[in-house]
Amino acid sequence: MKIIRLRVGKERSLQRRHPWVFDSAIAKGSADAGETVRIESSEGQFLAWAAFSPNSKIRARVWSFDESQRIDAAFFQARLSEAVAARHWFHIDSDACRLVHAESDGLPGLVVDRYGDTLVAQFGSAGVERWKPVLIDALLAATGLTKLYERSDTSSRKLEGLSPSTGWLKGQASGPTQRVLREHQWRLALDVATGHKTGFYLDQRDSRQRFAEWAAQRQFARVLNCYSYTGGFTVAALVGGAQHVTSIDSSALALELAKANVALNDLAFDAQGQSRADFLDADVNATLRRFLAEGRQFDAIVLDPPKLAPSAAHAERAARAYKDINRLALQLLPPGGVLFTFSCSGGISADLFHKIVASAGIDAGVDGFIAERLGGAPDHPMTINFPEGEYLKGLVVVRR
Ligand code: SAH
Repeated sequence: MKIIRLRVGKERSLQRRHPWVFDSAIAKGSADAGETVRIESSEGQFLAWAAFSPNSKIRARVWSFDESQRIDAAFFQARLSEAVAARHWFHIDSDACRLVHAESDGLPGLVVDRYGDTLVAQFGSAGVERWKPVLIDALLAATGLTKLYERSDTSSRKLEGLSPSTGWLKGQASGPTQRVLREHQWRLALDVATGHKTGFYLDQRDSRQRFAEWAAQRQFARVLNCYSYTGGFTVAALVGGAQHVTSIDSSALALELAKANVALNDLAFDAQGQSRADFLDADVNATLRRFLAEGRQFDAIVLDPPKLAPSAAHAERAARAYKDINRLALQLLPPGGVLFTFSCSGGISADLFHKIVASAGIDAGVDGFIAERLGGAPDHPMTINFPEGEYLKGLVVVRR
């Protein structure tokens, strides 16, 4: 068993049960990619069992803080069963769900989503890559499912020195990758091979539901869904009773699916045969500026941009981009208008995001009530010891 010895004073974060060891904390020791190592303090005291990652700044990720724990197939079977069982503790109103959320489920680097009878997995660290065959068998055993598709094409893999890997791992050698999920009172089509993440943004499930509830309560006439992707918030608003939704995205493929999803839920036309949805293949920032110049207004706006700050290092430039779109959106609302605004950047804390929206309001000359704070759905849990787990945050702002 290889030993990784830390520098003096570098044991503190592990003692607080934080699961990462950075390269700068290591005094000596090395191992192969994904190999299990024993992490010790500068004085030789046991701290954790971890997976070594020779190419990453996060040089080791902890499997266990228990010295008597063996890291073997039985360990992974137990962790996966626990993760799957924990989903019964949360209210998840969908047949699609995140079953394994990496560090939060004690499996650093592993993400597994379920879409009906199909599992989609992302192996994002050297540790889970090394244990892949064991994890595959354990996943099928823990869920009783037979179809497993791999989407190991995340950028984090590159940082771990791993190349992309995608395709069917189990259940079928080829075959359709399209699925239709049900969440709350609607259905949404997706493609596990070509969709973002593992196919869809499951983490926004409950915020979509809140948006449907706001739409039902306020009966919005005009809604604008920015960064709509495949139309999750669009469908939610229309189900809620919004009269008309404009969806903007820069991906033509995503918009095609958004249009199909509106039709799938029978929401494309009202009783008079008027269209309830239109779709703009365009840049959000430029379109918001154009709408402002044209004097248009919307009763509700969703801003759910992609990750503008992947890490804290990008925070400053990203903060300007967030501020810009939030300022424009606030200006497009009449008094009483509602903004659902999000950031999924790990590098932007909830506190900083609030400040960004506040300064957007000042620049817009607009004040607002913060009616709600939103976060990721509960199957994307954060744990007490891993604050990095909080990446998605949202505010519901009502213009005064
Ligand atoms: N709200 C969605 C997820 C949004 S993901 C849901 O609930 O499912 C972010 C989306 O922003 C992606 O679909 C991407 O194509 C789009 N996008 C990225 N940059 C953009 C830009 N500058 N203008 C418009 N859309 C953009």
